[in-house]
Amino acid sequence: MDFDLSEQQAQFADATRGFAERHLRAGALARAHAEDYPWDIARLMAANGFLGIAIPEQHGGIGGQLMDAIIAIEQIAAADPRSADVIQAGNFGAIRVLAQFATPAQRERYLKSLLAGEALISVAMTEPNAGSAVTELTTFAKPDGDGFRISGSKIFTTHGLHATVFLVYVRYGPGVGNIGSVLIERGAEGFSFGKKVRFLSGEDWNPLYFDNVFVPKKDVLLGPGGFKKQIAGFNVERIGNTARSLALGRYAFNAARELATTRRQFGQALCEFQGLQWKFAEMQIKLDAAQLLLYRAATNADKGFPGAADTAIAKAMCNRVGFEVASEAMQIMGGAGYSEDSLVEYCFRRTRGWMIAGGAVEVLLNRIAEHVFDRKFPQGPPKSALASEATD
Ligand SMILES: Cc1cc2nc3c(=O)[nH]c(=O)nc-3n(C[C@H](O)[C@H](O)[C@H](O)COP(=O)(O)OP(=O)(O)OC[C@H]3O[C@@H](n4cnc5c(N)ncnc54)[C@H](O)[C@@H]3O)c2cc1C
Repeated sequence: MDFDLSEQQAQFADATRGFAERHLRAGALARAHAEDYPWDIARLMAANGFLGIAIPEQHGGIGGQLMDAIIAIEQIAAADPRSADVIQAGNFGAIRVLAQFATPAQRERYLKSLLAGEALISVAMTEPNAGSAVTELTTFAKPDGDGFRISGSKIFTTHGLHATVFLVYVRYGPGVGNIGSVLIERGAEGFSFGKKVRFLSGEDWNPLYFDNVFVPKKDVLLGPGGFKKQIAGFNVERIGNTARSLALGRYAFNAARELATTRRQFGQALCEFQGLQWKFAEMQIKLDAAQLLLYRAATNADKGFPGAADTAIAKAMCNRVGFEVASEAMQIMGGAGYSEDSLVEYCFRRTRGWMIAGGAVEVLLNRIAEHVFDRKFPQGPPKSALASEATD
């Protein structure tokens, strides 16, 4: 067993670090507080081979491994935490599901521009009454001629204000087996947006409304029976959130480490105080342990898709560690870490959100418990309770 990066991975990490230092570090603070999607960075990254890293070459990608995409997140975030979102969008998010399951015509129409950094795809899954219980989604696809009519609404969609196309989870009929997804472009007739709302992270989202939107069959990504494939692809998205949690925690750690060696109080550098040394030691243990779980999930990935249990374990760990380390780093930095002119407060806010997004930590713990006991633990009320509710 080898815990080091391979020679090729180490070279890629070095090259990515150099790119990030040259092009990203200087604008990192401004970018973290900017409202728009960093389109200029997306195009720059596309031109330098950072989009579609793990997407096969025949589909327009780079043909690397999931692990390479994680290395990219780590190295980019170390210089510019916000730009790691571009790596996420261009490698781990809905783009990965699209690349894997799209028809050749869909790849031609959507994937090319996404990989060029000219377009952006969002995943619209969560609904007002279907959050953790995503399989309870009600956005409906009703057959109509050579396609479907989509009606329903979605909330919390990342990049919903900027995306050019949406991968929308829909149901074609009752039950989990009838869940799939369709592609809907911004501007489609009957597709509208509600009022903008801001998350603690500074990201804006707005409700999406689908009022009888016509989707031709050629824009169906996964039809009835596609849910398992969709969730397998979603594990990649989770790994991207996992990697960013850890990377932003590490960014905060490094900032605190730097300050602890330069700032002096009571006549000596902060790092001379044992109370702070032990905080750093604890953070180091957490970061290392979390990183090993992340790398395990990525290297065990079968055809680029990590397993559900490995992903849940890595995400729960990295989500917690990323946030705990960012919080502790802020404490060590005092007012300088709490202030908006430090990226540490940004890392603190972003890592907090990933404990909820893409499978909240509690839901991941449920999944891990199923792995431990090798059985399902249905979360719904017992059938007897439902029956008595119906007769009340
Ligand atoms: C920053 C951010 C970005 C997001 N981006 C997207 C996106 O791009 N696309 C999209 O579709 N959605 C997105 N979401 C939505 C996200 O997927 C949901 O917020 C998440 O699935 C949780 O659903 P919920 O918020 O409705 O909480 P709920 O499901 O209502 O859960 C509330 C609380 O109850 C807990 N809980 C629920 N069920 C159980 C259970 N069975 N056992 C124990 N505890 C439980 C949860 O863990 C949580 O703590 C995003 C959310 C955030 C915060």
